Amino acid sequence: MLIGCSEDNSQPTQPKENQETTITEDLAKLNDQVNAEAEKSPTHITSQDKSIGLTQLTDKVWVHTSYNEWKGTKIPHNGLVVTTDKGAVLIDTAWDTEGNHPKTKALLQMIQKHLKKKVVLAIVTHAHDDSIGGIQALLDKKIEVRSTSLTAKLAKENGYPSPKPILDEKPMMKIGDTVIKTMYPGEGHSKDNITAWLPQYKILFGGCFIKSLDAKDLGNLSDANVEKWDDSVKKVIEKYPQVKIVVPGHGEWGNKRLLFHTIDLIKQHTD
Ligand SMILES: [Zn+2]
Ligand SMILES: [Zn+2]
Repeated sequence: MLIGCSEDNSQPTQPKENQETTITEDLAKLNDQVNAEAEKSPTHITSQDKSIGLTQLTDKVWVHTSYNEWKGTKIPHNGLVVTTDKGAVLIDTAWDTEGNHPKTKALLQMIQKHLKKKVVLAIVTHAHDDSIGGIQALLDKKIEVRSTSLTAKLAKENGYPSPKPILDEKPMMKIGDTVIKTMYPGEGHSKDNITAWLPQYKILFGGCFIKSLDAKDLGNLSDANVEKWDDSVKKVIEKYPQVKIVVPGHGEWGNKRLLFHTIDLIKQHTD
């Protein structure tokens, strides 16, 4: 219902039965490209207490990684920092919790110190702690935080302040020289999960809706819809055939294999 822009729709639609093959061929071509990029050693900055990391993906785009414990294991969570000529855009907060948001505060300071940018806008991709936990730290700095109306509703139910529920109507944003498009693919990891696409860099932020290649299972399923997840991921694969880098909510980023790996994990779970 809220899927963006005409530009991406100009891609010819593949007949259904050929879709998997075509995507696999595409993938092989892209592998080389992405591997070549991965060989450049990335710039990595860590906060003094090691609770936040920033890793450079391209000139303008960084991954922010913060950590928390889930079922007794320390787990990393990724978001993006997209720098533009009008300031930085944050995609997902650091992994804080309601009423306790030191990591997002520290992240804002790191962005200012190392990237020399002020965060001017934030997007949250679902209403779980690892995406929205630091919202109050952003609102305290008068940073506008956007989400879909469903995420805003769930945020309030989870005890968080409401983001501005504007992404259903306006999934595409232009911040200075940079375009960001969000998409609601349908239910999966959660009812409200969305992705964020950076067409200029061909980077897809999949959030917790997409699993890293080393993920052995689907993770936290407390709000998941495993039945629909598969179709939702397929929509993303069809929408962004040109994707180069896919960033998952947890673990290592990579190429579009992450999308297929997520489908494999869903199949394993439902078989
Ligand atoms: Zn989640
Ligand atoms: Zn998550």
